[in-house]
Amino acid sequence: MRRPQVELRGDLVGLEGYHSPQVDVEVRLNTNESPLAPPEAWLAELRDEMGRIAFNRYPDRSAVDLRTALGRIHGVGPEQVFCAKGSNEVLQCLLLAYGGPGRRAAVFEPTYALHRHIAMLTGTEVVTGWRDADHRIDLESMEEILRSAEPVLVFLASPNNPTGRAEPRDLVTHVASTAPGLVVVDEAYGQFAPWSALDDPGIQEGSLDRLVVVRTFSKTWSMAACRLGYLVADPSVVQACELVALPYHLDAVVQAAGRLALHYRAEMEQRVSWLVGERNRVAASLGDLPLRQWPSDANFILFRPLERSARDVWDDLLAASVLVRDCSSWPGLDNCLRVTIGTEEENDRFLSALRHSLGGVAGGI
Ligand SMILES: *Cc1c(COP(=O)(O)O)cnc(C)c1O
Repeated sequence: MRRPQVELRGDLVGLEGYHSPQVDVEVRLNTNESPLAPPEAWLAELRDEMGRIAFNRYPDRSAVDLRTALGRIHGVGPEQVFCAKGSNEVLQCLLLAYGGPGRRAAVFEPTYALHRHIAMLTGTEVVTGWRDADHRIDLESMEEILRSAEPVLVFLASPNNPTGRAEPRDLVTHVASTAPGLVVVDEAYGQFAPWSALDDPGIQEGSLDRLVVVRTFSKTWSMAACRLGYLVADPSVVQACELVALPYHLDAVVQAAGRLALHYRAEMEQRVSWLVGERNRVAASLGDLPLRQWPSDANFILFRPLERSARDVWDDLLAASVLVRDCSSWPGLDNCLRVTIGTEEENDRFLSALRHSLGGVAGGI
């Protein structure tokens, strides 16, 4: 067969695609999804709604009903809300609109790999700041980066994935009022955290017009299969994202799914507080083992085995049919693993397999 003689874009050569290795296991605790399904009543409403969708017609291009419903929750109008296929597409739209060749985005490692990855795909130069050993951002080094690199976009994740902590409120508001460009706070785990940038009155009043808060239905809403995320920001940011998004990128089914999910906000909050309880239980049990763990404001915990290699522990867990995320090759995360909080039974399976592994007993349970 004739091979196409077309070269890949030079800046993409050597770049690896983003993937989380999936293995067929009984206990899957590697991608921070919710272990709990959304409510049955939501599914029943969605089934009804699907009967009313005109499938021969394009969907509402600007997703007005969904944006209005989301805006109502956050105390803003639809002109301050942009929705897309997962928060990853929201991030991509921000980078298409504001990034690109000759422009810079700042990230603070270790952090969510896709901020860097999508920046690179859009030809945006990435400037890297480093967190300290407790994974905190030092304000002075942040300001140095803002001054010297003048990034059009600063990416923060709060709580930060994979380290787990919410960024301090002072840091976020300070950066949002001094940064030369937009400050994107990725709140994929926002409902788990003690505070949200969305609570800041500046978002409603427009005094923090550089702040962009990104949320997703993939984690707290238990809807990772749906691909729905959104941002809340100044109307000019929403317009810029609409300019670069593909027409009709958000299908009618996902628009309905998201809008109807908001009827079950109390149930979402119950799932979140249940998961926080389980997270605290898992953290307490990890406290008895030879490892270092970092405090978490999310639905996952980052930890570092002290006496064994992360890779060996990961293998032992896999042999017990428990899959966690091996972060040991990520920048600044030597020998670290990340576990997502699952159901009570899944968490017990994880803890028991980990106890075996760290106690030197290899293999399954
Ligand atoms: C899981 C996660 C997301 C989710 O992306 P979607 O495209 O909405 O599924 C976004 N940001 C962070 C930091 C995450 O951990």
